[in-house]
Amino acid sequence: MSHRPPRNVTRTLPARKRIALVAHDGKKDELLEWVARWESTLAGHALIGTGTTAERISRQLGLAVEGLMSGPLGGDQQIGARIAEQRLDLLIFFWDPFAPQPHDPDVKALLRLAALWNVPVACNGASADFMVSSPWLDRDYEMNIPDAGAWISSRTD
Ligand code: PGA
Repeated sequence: MSHRPPRNVTRTLPARKRIALVAHDGKKDELLEWVARWESTLAGHALIGTGTTAERISRQLGLAVEGLMSGPLGGDQQIGARIAEQRLDLLIFFWDPFAPQPHDPDVKALLRLAALWNVPVACNGASADFMVSSPWLDRDYEMNIPDAGAWISSRTD
């Protein structure tokens, strides 16, 4: 039997969202086009990205994006850590369904943490359109996340 968090608590995503932008190589042009289309909307939020993705967005579009490590060198894991620490609010991740990645285990780990911590994820242009046109993009949004403290006590009782 798998162990599950015994209860949830509330987390409020702030009006100014911290948004991660990640694209595999085969999807980078598509993400760049998408970001260009939503540039004025995204400019009101805090953007971070894996190394190459962040660098291309900053260089080609002039948007400020905090660059982490490149994905294959640990960038996906860094984004996953921010999710676990509740320091990330939205994940836009154009992963490539046609290309295996050297860091596939990291990709899977990142998507697992996003599912676990109830972080909204968009994996393609249409889902990203829906995400950033949501009325909650510029407002506080209350959601449930696992109660980390209750989880620890349930394992040590
Ligand atoms: P990159 O990493 O932005 O450094 O290319 C993305 C990824 O492969 O996860």
